[in-house]
Amino acid sequence: MDRIIGQECVKRAVEVALSGNHSILLLGGSGSGKTLWINTIRDMLPTQVVSNYSEWTKVEDKEGLYFAIDDLVDNRANKILNQISKTPLIASIDLCKCGNYNHPIHVCQCSPEDVTGYRYRIKRSILDRFDISIELTYPRAELLFHKGYEKIEDILKRIDKMDTGKCGMNGDYPDVDEDSQKLIMIAYKQLGLPVGSCKAIVSVANTIALMSGGDKIQVEHVAEALQYKSANYHLM
Ligand SMILES: [Zn+2]
Repeated sequence: MDRIIGQECVKRAVEVALSGNHSILLLGGSGSGKTLWINTIRDMLPTQVVSNYSEWTKVEDKEGLYFAIDDLVDNRANKILNQISKTPLIASIDLCKCGNYNHPIHVCQCSPEDVTGYRYRIKRSILDRFDISIELTYPRAELLFHKGYEKIEDILKRIDKMDTGKCGMNGDYPDVDEDSQKLIMIAYKQLGLPVGSCKAIVSVANTIALMSGGDKIQVEHVAEALQYKSANYHLM
């Protein structure tokens, strides 16, 4: 993470994902740092990470394993994801075929039909597998030589202190207060979230609550989790 410039929101999302063993999807164009992030997360994980396609043909769901996929649109990725359902995932995806979608300078060469066709290749059931999605933005030029970023060791120390047995949905289904319930219900109606996604939001909110040192899920934890869950909805 020390090689990462800016992208503090992504660091936060990665910390939440690794604290609670949640699957994470990185969305971004060419040069936004997707591969760098995948490699960084691999280095952060104490568990085995499988990313080689030939290894994938032999594996099945196993505890203590992570899958890394550096291009979710790749047909081989779809194939392997159909074989496993429980192993947490780290994956990345371009927002269009040419890779310049949303780029501040370079022009996207794709037609609206190209963009739709490209995104159509990713099944919604696969996107639903990611509890956390986050878009990688291009860092501003002023940040290129900035040195005040948090170090990877400090983030890893916090992750190490987390009791993963209590995070996510590993423990009992956590209680959700009335304000949080209302927020989830609004998202359910407005985004057309499947029931499983609502559970995923509570699961991530539980991890965030524990990260903040509390044992109760507050509405701000749900709001952050909802932001992660809804980030990939513009791909659908
Ligand atoms: Zn494009």
